[in-house]
Amino acid sequence: MIVASNNDNKVKEIKDIFKDLNFNIVSLKDEGIFIDVVEDGKTIHENSYKKARVIYDYLLSIHYKDFCVLSDDSGLIIDSLGGAPGIMSARFSGDGATDDENNNKVLKLMEKIDDNHRTSKFLTVLTIILETGEEKQFEGELNGFILREKRGDNGFGYDSIFYVNKFSKTLGEITKECKNSISHRYIALNKLREYLSK
Ligand code: IMP
Repeated sequence: MIVASNNDNKVKEIKDIFKDLNFNIVSLKDEGIFIDVVEDGKTIHENSYKKARVIYDYLLSIHYKDFCVLSDDSGLIIDSLGGAPGIMSARFSGDGATDDENNNKVLKLMEKIDDNHRTSKFLTVLTIILETGEEKQFEGELNGFILREKRGDNGFGYDSIFYVNKFSKTLGEITKECKNSISHRYIALNKLREYLSK
């Protein structure tokens, strides 16, 4: 299973959540593939599909055998910001933005938003393309709130400002095992797991 992503954190979470699965899970980097797919879709679904399709077509072109391709496109959707950053999550404060810069931009934009209007969710859309060309998408969502400051250094991306009621903590404060047992990515991967088992 080739994970069509250059995001090491994401690949690591997928490997952890699927560690019991009978698949050899590898990243693009593991396979020496250096393709950066341009995310120019209008939705997270479109971007997820494009990432899987570009890598799948490349693997076919080099006559790669016995594989499936998995892509993960995820985004943070904040109600009071009209759904932003959404598809702009990775580059919310500009191309090549760091996680810190993106988090700071969210916090600044939400400075005046009161506690009752800080609802948010993470959305993951997975696309799997089997070697036969059969393709499917699976979604996972996690609801939470945007805090007023960062808390916790675990995780990546927007984890440290995303508060989850179930743990009364941010995703940046809980362990990776905890995150991987409730996250948007976990929920979507579980749907994929069921599909693969059939
Ligand atoms: P992409 O799916 O690689 O386009 O990532 C979109 C953005 O969302 C990046 O800035 C990621 O760091 C962030 N992101 C993706 N998944 C997560 C997550 O599980 N927690 C926090 N941030 C995430």
